[in-house]
Amino acid sequence: MATTHKTRMLIIGSGPAGLSAAIYGARAGMEPIVVQGLQPGGQLTITTDVENYPGFREVIQGPWLMQEMQAQAEHVGTRMMWDTITSVDLSGDKFTAQGDSGDVYEGDTLVIATGAQARWLGVPGEQELSGKGVSACATCDGFFYRGKKVVVIGGGNTAVEEALYLTNHSDDVTLIHRRDSLRAEKILQDRLFAHPKINVVWNKRVDSFLGGGEGGGLRALKLIDTVTGEESEIETEGAFVAIGHAPATELFKGQLAMDESGYLLVEPGTPKTDVPGVFACGDVMDHVYRQAITAAGTGCMAALDAERFLAEKEFAESAKVEA
Ligand SMILES: Cc1cc2nc3c(=O)[nH]c(=O)nc-3n(C[C@H](O)[C@H](O)[C@H](O)COP(=O)(O)OP(=O)(O)OC[C@H]3O[C@@H](n4cnc5c(N)ncnc54)[C@H](O)[C@@H]3O)c2cc1C
Repeated sequence: MATTHKTRMLIIGSGPAGLSAAIYGARAGMEPIVVQGLQPGGQLTITTDVENYPGFREVIQGPWLMQEMQAQAEHVGTRMMWDTITSVDLSGDKFTAQGDSGDVYEGDTLVIATGAQARWLGVPGEQELSGKGVSACATCDGFFYRGKKVVVIGGGNTAVEEALYLTNHSDDVTLIHRRDSLRAEKILQDRLFAHPKINVVWNKRVDSFLGGGEGGGLRALKLIDTVTGEESEIETEGAFVAIGHAPATELFKGQLAMDESGYLLVEPGTPKTDVPGVFACGDVMDHVYRQAITAAGTGCMAALDAERFLAEKEFAESAKVEA
């Protein structure tokens, strides 16, 4: 039978942002509920080595880190729900969310931490070699390819930024683009073309990622010329797919302000959306940094602001009753 779950803080999403919000919310007596969605633990559960999350001298594993975060959130009193939200109603005094299970969730405050998924090419070998030479995040994984030849696929700002970032680790960076010009901003293009470590390959689309490299990892990319149809291979141990991200905000269309790419808009420097009592944190509102630590940081901010919002609201209501 369908149940209605009530809480002072409803959190949608169980990545670093949602779980950090839960830890802070639970410790502030908000008795949070986290609805986990289709990817419990979020994006770090699909990676292996994580070397940049503070507090760990040795390389740790993404899935392990997220298990620990969840255990910590539960330990301080968070209720975790195996459910996915299919619709929300943010128009009332309480915020309601319909779960795929049939259950309904009702929050006095709402924290949105639904993340943004990297777009992939969807070609053979990509999924199999993900984490073994194929990545969608140079900031996360570039360090693992230091001194090696790497390639970046894409033609927008993200691709150019990733290529420029990778020159910190590699002297041989190739940007592969399927057209003969880039979409990236002119200033970024100028920096790219002037960089001695970066080479651009035009009019080539990636047909497949080829394994058989060191330790069964990536060895090369098979390319097809988009003008002549000619096939070729480019050898590399590290390929970065940089064709954009898709924020998981479909649920909030028409109810919350978002930018043209679908990222939730917040008051600058805060996690406050344009609906009082609704907060957004992590990758769903951040198209710039997109890291576990920044997601966790904004998750903390969202919980603190949610607690303050509710305290002020409850104080105002009790003052009204007394008057
Ligand atoms: C392959 C890979 C490697 C990475 N490596 C690193 C690294 O080494 N270091 C680093 O700092 N960062 C790394 N990142 C980036 C990092 O994972 C993200 O920045 C971080 O996970 C963002 O956290 P988040 O909580 O905002 O969102 P996510 O981790 O994306 O979590 C989103 C959550 O929302 C849930 N959700 C979505 N829609 C719904 C819905 N309708 N109902 C309920 N729940 C929903 C999902 O199930 C998920 O739990 C990596 C990313 C990838 C893809």
